[in-house]
Amino acid sequence: MAQKLDCLWMPFTDMQAFARDPLVLQKAEGPYVYDIDGNEYLDCISSLWHVGVGHGNRHYLDRIKAQLDGALTSASLFGSAHMAALDLASRLVAFVDDARLRKVFFSSGGSEAVETALKVAIQYNKIRGRGGDKVVYLKRAYHGVTLGALSAMGIEGDRMGFEAHLSREFIAAESPHCYRCPYGLSRPRCELACAKSLERLIAQHPGEITTLIVEPVQGAGGIIVPPPDYLRELHRICREHDIVFILDEVVTGYWRTGARFAFQAEGVAPDILVLSKGMSGGVLPLGATVVSREIFDTFTAADEVFMHGNTYGGNPLSCAAGIAHLEFVSRPEFAARVHALVGEFAAGLEALKHHDLVGDIRQKGLMAGIELVTDRVTKEPYKPQRPLALLARRHGLLLRPLGNVITLFPMMTVTPSALVDMFVRLDAFLHD
Ligand code: PLP
Repeated sequence: MAQKLDCLWMPFTDMQAFARDPLVLQKAEGPYVYDIDGNEYLDCISSLWHVGVGHGNRHYLDRIKAQLDGALTSASLFGSAHMAALDLASRLVAFVDDARLRKVFFSSGGSEAVETALKVAIQYNKIRGRGGDKVVYLKRAYHGVTLGALSAMGIEGDRMGFEAHLSREFIAAESPHCYRCPYGLSRPRCELACAKSLERLIAQHPGEITTLIVEPVQGAGGIIVPPPDYLRELHRICREHDIVFILDEVVTGYWRTGARFAFQAEGVAPDILVLSKGMSGGVLPLGATVVSREIFDTFTAADEVFMHGNTYGGNPLSCAAGIAHLEFVSRPEFAARVHALVGEFAAGLEALKHHDLVGDIRQKGLMAGIELVTDRVTKEPYKPQRPLALLARRHGLLLRPLGNVITLFPMMTVTPSALVDMFVRLDAFLHD
């Protein structure tokens, strides 16, 4: 095992710390995962926020197996289509259910889907002679790791070391972080100063800002749930200044926030919607960029080809998993279960507030961040002496904290008893 571990380099992982306390998973079922020594962990984060329907979900495995047993297991979408991609694209458009969002471009993951969105916006703006080329992202944003997506990275630590290679056309607006408001204001007297920071950037760069990319809830930035009306305000500003509005729902899509998509619940209409993570049930790599009919028609009218794509984007097996997911989450009982779970989840979170370390709990649907502080008044961030993920493992919990923020993404198929089990273990962990 030591020799095998020596050959693997893992993402966002301190490999020396990992070598001291390796976690090697062997099997998983529902919300529970097991390591090679047979230890059980309750997966509180849906793997990497993407296995929202439980590990080993039969519905997906059967669908993929049928595709495997069929005539076409592999094909690209470069110049030829296949039935699985056609089927998934049309079902996805119906599921997104927005009169404008009608064209689906497939990729193999979130970063690729974001790159696609950015490049569509850039080419669209060129074709229509919009002028200016600046993209606005938010501080604390996370849109992926490829150089384009990284240019829109709002987490300082993740940009560090790469800055010289990032696009100078990308500029940051303020994050809607109410707990640590960048203006030291509070709701509602703030009058959404964070959203207005976009207007200030527009004034500083007249005519130059053409695109905005934003997450409905900032995920990797610390589970930052914006105040009510925030997204609508951004949307209004984009419309007023003819700015392409890209909504990154890689994390929030497919019921994670309690709504099918956050944009519907917030009453905004993105020009481009970015999806990935759970859209295949987390079983196979898949991403999608859903683009407005108007943008697509602009390409067609100008006789322009979108010069972009990846070999594995929309491969038949991933598409089969995507179809399985749409079938699974479209069942009325699925939505009903999510709605019930949101309340149970909120009650469990509420009960953790008594821990002195808990400074803030931010919840949207079935995603939450618990921010740990050493002092609730000064909000001094808690600095653990031991890695929290390691401590969590001793309590039978699979967690991946973001600095001093513990993120919780329970599976949307979790049973009431497993959810209770999660909060019992979390309580003991926080106490420890
Ligand atoms: N967009 C958001 C909002 C994300 O949280 C992530 C990853 O966590 C990505 C994009 C990138 O997705 P991937 O890791 O599949 O490249």
